[in-house]
Order: sequence, then C-alpha cells, then structure tokens
Amino acid sequence: MLGCSGGELPGHRTTCFLVDGRLAVDAGALTASLSLGQLARVDDVLLTHSHFDHVKDVPLVADLLMGRRRRPLVVHASTECAATLRESIFNGRLWPDFTRLPTRRDPVIEIRPFTPGRTIAIGRYTVRTVPVEHPVESVGFLLSDGRAAIGISGDTGPTRAFWRRVNAEERLRALLVEMSFPDALQGLADLSGHLTPRTLAGELAKVNREGVPVYLYHLKPAYEAALRRDLRKLALDGVRILEMGDAFRF
Ligand SMILES: [Zn+2]
Ligand SMILES: [Zn+2]
Repeated sequence: MLGCSGGELPGHRTTCFLVDGRLAVDAGALTASLSLGQLARVDDVLLTHSHFDHVKDVPLVADLLMGRRRRPLVVHASTECAATLRESIFNGRLWPDFTRLPTRRDPVIEIRPFTPGRTIAIGRYTVRTVPVEHPVESVGFLLSDGRAAIGISGDTGPTRAFWRRVNAEERLRALLVEMSFPDALQGLADLSGHLTPRTLAGELAKVNREGVPVYLYHLKPAYEAALRRDLRKLALDGVRILEMGDAFRF
C-alpha cells in the first residue's frame, strides 16, 4: 500500500496500491515510493478515475521512464478518464504529450481506454470494472488471478452494482473501501460522492462478507481524528484502516 490517503502531507500519500511490483492501481504515490529501477518494472497502471489525487504521478512517471522501457507503460483508464488525461494533462501545455514521445511509434506510455462495466485482462489478472457513484466517471474493481480476488471500491458514495459483483465473487479475500469524511460532514460527503463511517456501515450491510476483511482508505488527512473516532463508535467487525506501507498476500 504505497498510498492510502485522501490527501498528501508528510506521512500521508494519495491512493496507490502496488500489486506484485508490475501493476499499480491508481497513481497517487508512485514516484514518492519507488526507485527508478522499481518504476521501470511497472508495466501497467490501472486508474479508478481522473481526479488529481489518483492520476498525479502518471505524468511524472512518463517523464522519468523516457528511454528506460522497451514497451510502453500501459495506463488503463475508463473512456472519460482517458479523454481527460489526453486533453487536460498530456496536451502539450500542462505537460508534453508522452503518448507520442520519444517517437509516435515507440512512446513511453500508452493510454488504453476501457468501457466501465467491462472485464479486462492485465498480465495474469482479470479485472472486472464496475461503475460507482462519484462526480466524474469512476469505477471500482474486482481484481483476480483466478485463485484469489480482491475488491477495490474506488472513490464512491453509496452504490449498488459494485456490491452485487462483490457478493458474486466466490474467491473474495479482501475488500478495500473508501471512507473520506467524518459523519459531521455528511452533506459534503454526499455532494462529493464519498463515504462517511455512517454511510460505510450502510454499504457494508449490503455485503455477504463472512471472514472477508475490510480495509479502509482515502481518509482526508484534515479529518483523520474525527474519522477514527466515528469509526470506533460503530465497532464494525473485521474492519480496519489501511496504513501506508502495509503489505498483504492474498
Ligand atoms: Zn475522486
Ligand atoms: Zn480521491
């Protein structure tokens, strides 16, 4: 877990989960966590959505990896997220168009769009993408290597389809779920498509998850103390907050 916070401060990095050194889910903490050699071994970056805290290292990694990879780093992004990356980041103004550099034929990154709701293959993984509730097109994932699967909610408010897929997954080993704002900011959480401890409890009630641990992430650092307090009061079984640097084998 390279980053699991909803904001960046010393000791807090934004969302970024590294799977087996080759695949990264979201790009909020790649360049702050990995060496140049480790970055060059990442073949795929899978994005939940286009918000800055999730995509911010894609342009920095592209710059660092110029001339260091034989094949492009593939950035898997939903249709709208891919368009945002092209139009708003790699537009030659905010950042050079690294999808055509150093040459059009042999670029350092490739942005590969997927349609939300589709299942895609990335290396040895199967990824089911599921639309969730957020102000921009956003997806959660069910990531499986055929033996074990994990669910990653992405940024979302209360949602349905994602939990249906989770409940249908027989090999589910863990759930990574967002929780951003304390209960006192319920209105802001609802407006911005995020969960509070209160709405999280409602979401978890939709899941058949006997024995499946739930790891929470995307806490806004400014509200961390209140978030932890609200969560403790709920005394939810098998639920804990992710810490940067946590490592798991599923
Ligand atoms: Zn977001
Ligand atoms: Zn976010």
